[in-house]
Amino acid sequence: MNKFQNSMYRFFIGRRGTDQLTFALLITAVILSLISSIFGLLIGSILSTAMWIYSLFRMLSKNIPAREKENQWFLSKYTPVSMYLKQAKVRFQNRKVYLYYHCPQCKAWLKLPRHIGEKTVTCGKCGATFKKKA
Ligand SMILES: [Zn+2]
Repeated sequence: MNKFQNSMYRFFIGRRGTDQLTFALLITAVILSLISSIFGLLIGSILSTAMWIYSLFRMLSKNIPAREKENQWFLSKYTPVSMYLKQAKVRFQNRKVYLYYHCPQCKAWLKLPRHIGEKTVTCGKCGATFKKKA
């Protein structure tokens, strides 16, 4: 290992590196930067630059517990959105096979095979029973 590599290696010891929040910040910064440059928005450029700087700060920070706490907060907000989008994708992919609808009582997602006719459905979440035509 040469002197430069060795010094770089020592510099990165004990630093956090990337996590989900940093990655999300970088992606948002790139998108915001592109939109700002297309529409000439100064506030977008400033915000994008701030996101870059904050991402860099997070990656190089040695205060790992604080960065971990921030990342956990981010994941608590992002995970439900991510789950909803994944489920929406599955519903869209299977839209010709199943009819998706909400339970009239608890609003949970339910599905019935298409072209099955009218069925008496019992919600698995709340136990409500109702008729549904698919
Ligand atoms: Zn229900």
